[in-house]
Amino acid sequence: MNYKMYIGGEWTESFNNEYFEVINPATGEIIGQVAKGGEAETKEAITAAHDAFKDWSSLPASQRSDVLNKWYNLIIENKEEIGKIMTLEQGKPVKEAIGEVLYGASFVQWYAEEAKRVYGETIPAATSDKRILVHKQPVGVIGAITPWNFPAAMITRKIAPALAAGCTAIVKPAFKTPLTAIKLFELLEQAGLPKGVANLVMGSANEIGTALMNDSRVRKITFTGSTEVGKKLIADAAKTVKNVSMELGGHAPLLVFEDADLDKAVEGSIASKFRNCGQVCVATNRIYVQESIKDKFIEKLVAKVKELKVGDGFSEDVDLGPMVNREGYQKVDEQVQSAVAMGAKIETGGTGSHKSDHEDAGYFYEPTVLSNITNNMHIMSDETFGPVVPVATFKTEEEALRFANDTNYGLAAYLFTENLSRGIRVSEGLEYGIVGLNDGRPSIAQAPFGGFKESGIGREGGHFGIKEFLEIKYISIGL
Ligand code: ADP
Repeated sequence: MNYKMYIGGEWTESFNNEYFEVINPATGEIIGQVAKGGEAETKEAITAAHDAFKDWSSLPASQRSDVLNKWYNLIIENKEEIGKIMTLEQGKPVKEAIGEVLYGASFVQWYAEEAKRVYGETIPAATSDKRILVHKQPVGVIGAITPWNFPAAMITRKIAPALAAGCTAIVKPAFKTPLTAIKLFELLEQAGLPKGVANLVMGSANEIGTALMNDSRVRKITFTGSTEVGKKLIADAAKTVKNVSMELGGHAPLLVFEDADLDKAVEGSIASKFRNCGQVCVATNRIYVQESIKDKFIEKLVAKVKELKVGDGFSEDVDLGPMVNREGYQKVDEQVQSAVAMGAKIETGGTGSHKSDHEDAGYFYEPTVLSNITNNMHIMSDETFGPVVPVATFKTEEEALRFANDTNYGLAAYLFTENLSRGIRVSEGLEYGIVGLNDGRPSIAQAPFGGFKESGIGREGGHFGIKEFLEIKYISIGL
């Protein structure tokens, strides 16, 4: 199958007739050829978005809301098809993929509502001959750059609030997962989105990224991906002083206190670690358990982890699909080997396999628990993005917090305790944007998602998410 870009409301070939291949990460099979865009196609998309901005931003919010509601309904009607496309190109089990589609759709529904609640303010002036009005207006044309680990939700979480606010957009999905994006755009077209309001360009990240960053018509970049690329984009944004929202890497700690409900803690650890094969920015990267309950916790955790099944995401009872590619697999394997060389003990897992002739596909890694951990192991500071969790120990609450905060990342952290005061105290002390207190799955459309420190800038979700796409205008009226 050949797939095209979507520019100015037209399904568009690459200007140079170039294509790139999309492969199934479980098997290496080629599942599609996608038109490969670069600078010229991106400029065309920016022009289309720029031309469409005036009409789209002037529409009554209720009409933008109608389009988003239609898109939401179409996504729900097609959830199984989108889920299967996602499993084909990304690898996660079909059930989990459909779960992501529903999660992604929930942002469309939320911002269809939120579009109508972009309120301004009046402020009492210091003198009787003045009136002060505060308006909110869309920032303008936005560029959205999204990763492969959540091929549907990272697009809807950015585009729904952008369109709701009245912005127009250029979306660049990850090279590995363009097909889910294409399906979402087909549905957006069916929902009646006017031409040029949202555009989809695929291809060279560097060329498309550079074209977006250099163009002064693009007023905002919203990005989800690695901290390394995020830093480059922040620096590039300085040239034209673009507004940026950045959802970057993480290194989530999960703290288990001796007063925790251990079943809840194990369930939360599994949910936050092994979902999407651990390829999640809010995934637990390191567990710290209080010394007195270490053996009991590890025993319970390992028993549950052993029940998890690895395989092709299309097999019925699979919990973990393939790693996205060889590089991801090697990184995980190296972290495990290096930890073992430094004294870590493999409680379960610790091995992987390569089940394809394709050199970049068919990489599976067993869900792994490591113990006997020291804080100087690489896995305790480098993002793993795979199904491996080291379990270290702490003695006191103060020490747990110190360990948890000892990182440049600050996206998500988890803690398990049945002691209310401790729960509040530790939650407040964690230098993280998202805290799961007895909760391994905090991501939800109503709430603000985003990080402290080098994990990002800005928030997605809730009433916070639409503000990222709004400028504040103050009108001073002299009477
Ligand atoms: P990940 O490791 O999760 O793939 P990346 O940061 O490499 O994270 O990629 C996230 C997104 O950023 C992808 O769409 C990728 O193509 C894009 N990207 C990578 N490098 C650049 C760049 N130099 N400029 C713009 N976008 C980029």
